[in-house]
Amino acid sequence: MKVLFVGAGASGIVGAISYKRNHQKDDVLIIEHLDAPLKKLLATGNGKCNLANTKLDLNKYSHPEFVKDILVEYDYVSFFDSVSVKTKAMGELVYPVSETAVSVRNALIGEAERLGIKINCSEKLLDYKRVNNCIEVITDKDKYVVEKLYLAGSLCSTKNLGSDGSVLSILRNHGYKIKEPLPGLCPIVTKENTKLLDGTRIKSEVSLYQNSNLIHKEKGEVLFKKNGLSGIVIFNVSALIARSQNKANKFVLDLLPEYSETELEKYWQIHSFDGFLQAFLHPTIIKYLKERFSTNEEIFRAVKHLEFTFKEAYGFEFAQVSVGGVDLSMVDARLESVKERNIYLLGELLDIDGPCGGYNLTWAFGSAIRATN
Ligand SMILES: Cc1cc2nc3c(=O)[nH]c(=O)nc-3n(C[C@H](O)[C@H](O)[C@H](O)COP(=O)(O)OP(=O)(O)OC[C@H]3O[C@@H](n4cnc5c(N)ncnc54)[C@H](O)[C@@H]3O)c2cc1C
Repeated sequence: MKVLFVGAGASGIVGAISYKRNHQKDDVLIIEHLDAPLKKLLATGNGKCNLANTKLDLNKYSHPEFVKDILVEYDYVSFFDSVSVKTKAMGELVYPVSETAVSVRNALIGEAERLGIKINCSEKLLDYKRVNNCIEVITDKDKYVVEKLYLAGSLCSTKNLGSDGSVLSILRNHGYKIKEPLPGLCPIVTKENTKLLDGTRIKSEVSLYQNSNLIHKEKGEVLFKKNGLSGIVIFNVSALIARSQNKANKFVLDLLPEYSETELEKYWQIHSFDGFLQAFLHPTIIKYLKERFSTNEEIFRAVKHLEFTFKEAYGFEFAQVSVGGVDLSMVDARLESVKERNIYLLGELLDIDGPCGGYNLTWAFGSAIRATN
C-alpha cells in the first residue's frame, strides 16, 4: 500500500480522488470507522448539500490569509463537473441541480471506485508510527505500511456522523499543538428565559458584542427555543462566540430592522402603546416583552434592542462544525505536517471554520485538493 487516507468524509474522498488522478499507479486505501462513506455529507444543506458559495468572502473564515492561499487552486465548478455533478446557485448558495446530497455522494463514491480506490468501512485508526522512511498505520482490524498518510478524520461535531474526536486525540498524543475545539454553527442556550417564545420565528437583525464592542451584525430568521435561540443567523453567531473563547457573550436582536426608532416612536404617538405593539409585532412576542419588562419605555427600547446573554452552546451533537483543531503552525502551505514528513492534515481537523453557506465544504474539498496536487 502506497497511500492511506483516514476518513471517508468530504475531504478524505475528494483527497483520494485527486491523489489517484495525479498518481495513477499508486495504490490508495481509505479507512472509515462508520459502516458507510460520506454519511455526514448526506445531512448537509438539509439533505440538499450546499457545497459552495458564489460570493465566498474569505474574511469570514477563522484564518482568512491561510485559507486564501489554499483555496486559490480550487475551482468547484470544474471539480464537480469532472465527477458529473452539475451545480446551480440559489441566491449565493450552490447546490447540485438534483437538489439532493445523494447525487453528490453517489458521484464521489462512483469516481473513487472507477479510479480503483479501495474503501474499507468499519475500520478505525488507532495510531501510527514511523518505521524507517515509511509510516506504520495501526487500525482496529489491521496494520499497513505506507509512504504517505492523509488524516481527514474531522473533529467532534456530530458523533453519530463519525466525528468523535479520535483522530485529534491521536495527534495530541503525537505532540501536535491543538486549539481545543468548541461547538460552532449550533443553537445557543441563553441566560434569559425564552420558554414563552418556544417555536416562534422572527426576521431580525442580530448584533454580537464583546466587551460592548460590536463584532458582528447579520440579518436573518431567528427561531426561539424553550431555552435559547436557533436559526442560521444564530448558528453563525455561535461560531463567532466560540472563536472568541466565549468572551463575546452578549447579543442583541433588532425585532424590526426595517423601521427606524423615529418611525416607530411617531406611530406610538398617534396610536396607543398597545396599538403600536399590535401593529408591528407577533402576539407571542408582545406577551414575552410584557412579561420580561415592566414599563412601556423599556418595552419600546427592547423592540430595537432585545438583549440576550450567551450561557452555553447546545453542544457538539447539534453543531455543524467544531471551532478549533490542529494549530495551523503544525502544517506547511501544502498541508503537510511540519513535525512528521509525509503526513498531511485535511478539512475540519485543522483550525479552520467558516459560516453557514457552503464555506465548510469548500474548505474540506479545497484543502483536500491542495494537499494532493
Ligand atoms: C448537519 C450538518 C449540516 C451541514 N451542512 C453543511 C452545508 O450545507 N454546507 C457546508 O459547507 N458545510 C456543512 N456542514 C459542515 C460540513 O459537513 C463539514 O465541514 C465537512 O463535512 C468536514 O469535512 P471533513 O472531511 O473534514 O470531515 P467529515 O466530513 O466529518 O469526515 C470525517 C470522516 O472521518 C471519519 N473518521 C473519524 N475518525 C476516524 C477514525 N479514527 N478512523 C477512521 N475514520 C474516522 C468519520 O466517520 C467521517 O466519515 C454541515 C455539517 C452538519 C453536521
